Amino acid sequence: MIPLNTFVANLEQVQLRIAKACQAADRSVDSVTLLPVTKNHPVDAVDYAAQYGLLSIGENRVQEASKKREICKSTVFWELIGHLQSNKARDAVGTFDRIQSVDSMKLLKKLDRYASEAGKCLPILLQCNTGKDPNKSGFLVESMPRALELALSLDSLQVDGLMTIAPLDDSLDVARHAFEELRILRDNLSNKFNTLLQELSMGMTGDLEQAIAAGSTQIRIGSALYGSRI
Ligand SMILES: *Cc1c(COP(=O)(O)O)cnc(C)c1O
Repeated sequence: MIPLNTFVANLEQVQLRIAKACQAADRSVDSVTLLPVTKNHPVDAVDYAAQYGLLSIGENRVQEASKKREICKSTVFWELIGHLQSNKARDAVGTFDRIQSVDSMKLLKKLDRYASEAGKCLPILLQCNTGKDPNKSGFLVESMPRALELALSLDSLQVDGLMTIAPLDDSLDVARHAFEELRILRDNLSNKFNTLLQELSMGMTGDLEQAIAAGSTQIRIGSALYGSRI
């Protein structure tokens, strides 16, 4: 685990990148939130972020997050950003405050059922595989209207917006294209279903500038803050 002063220096660099990208896109810096991704790092990573006012945390596995949440000293908002197997849906509802990686009809129904049983309304994002990357999960663009229609019909889910991961590709143009596609999709769905879909979770360490240019409202950053993963 990196020392706190390294984290602080990393955070300043990331904030500078965000500020520059917002300026280039003529957007206010407040329009983008930074989600620190603490997967594969000890729970101290969460405490570091919380100390600096970053109160939402991204984790990609249910079990790892659940363990950290039990011992974490900081009160933060836990967000699942990794693929969720439906047999872990119940645990995920118990562990996370929001699930960004909702990628199937089956999972939507299960999450609704477990949230209802827990007496809560669970915020979610629908993950879209905008780049049609065979190694990535997420609904295909053409399935998104049906997925959203179902999600909006489920009483114990609240759809905050959409999420995507750019395809693995060296070209940042490919990432930019995937992000623009998600924003256009959001605009269309928002009109069609008369619902806000405010959150656009897109952009990571390597492509945050492209994401902000395309309208991202939340960038998910791991390695630029914490160094490479163990
Ligand atoms: C790990 C991960 C991130 C952070 O990636 P970095 O490149 O380390 O910033 C963002 N989003 C998802 C879905 C991830 O799994």
